[in-house]
Amino acid sequence: LLRIEDVYKSYGDERVLRGVSLEIDRGDVEVLVGPSGSGKSTLLRCLNRLTEVNDGQIYLGDLEVTGETNADEIRQQIGMVFQDINLFAHLTARKNIMLGLQKVRGMDKEDARDRADAELARVGLADQAESYPAQLSGGQKQRVGIARALAMDPEVMLFDEPTSALDPELSNEVLAVMRELVAEGMTMVVVTHEMRFARGAASSISFLENGEIVERGSPDRMFDDPTHERTKRFFESIS
Ligand code: ATP
Ligand code: MG
Repeated sequence: LLRIEDVYKSYGDERVLRGVSLEIDRGDVEVLVGPSGSGKSTLLRCLNRLTEVNDGQIYLGDLEVTGETNADEIRQQIGMVFQDINLFAHLTARKNIMLGLQKVRGMDKEDARDRADAELARVGLADQAESYPAQLSGGQKQRVGIARALAMDPEVMLFDEPTSALDPELSNEVLAVMRELVAEGMTMVVVTHEMRFARGAASSISFLENGEIVERGSPDRMFDDPTHERTKRFFESIS
């Protein structure tokens, strides 16, 4: 479903992605791990055109993400949830979700409202539709962010350390929603330090270093029997 072919990205002189290739099938969950600065966030940003690649191609099915397609179109198909929740502070949870549906999807107000409420229910927040971001916990805000992305009916969901700003209890609420999506067959690319989630939910894990995928494999193999010295040391350092 998602094909990344030999992608390069530099910021000035700094080569951040150096020939990354990856194929992700429908319904698969790819977990990206690697040291800070290895290019994980940059790769996700390339996937939904928040950043342009310097070389290489990315395809979502037949759609070339790196091509001429309108970036809004791509972002509907490839939803993204960041570490820092970026909800509009002056809008309720429901309105935050309705906004994109009305502006980007051209839905009328009633339909957008119904859809927003359905997505809030899906992430366990049916009772918080009228709450403003400041009235929500970090985990609840993060779940509104997930609901907002899901409302666009994306083919793929990208998660960039969605729980790393949360304490364990709130992280678990968010991880529960993510596991639910996995069970529903959502295709996902997830950058996370939550190794229990990675082990339980990933179809495969890619280890990035210096802008390259050093090693990729099933969770069991990556955790129990990594081939590369670097991968070994990384998994030792976090477990
Ligand atoms: P972390 O685990 O800390 O989130 P990461 O693997 O997500 O790290 P990236 O955020 O992709 O790493 O950053 C990779 C490199 O690219 C870093 O050296 C960073 O300083 C650089 N970089 C990222 N975004 C930009 C930008 N907009 N402008 C210039 N340099 C950038
Ligand atoms: Mg990052």
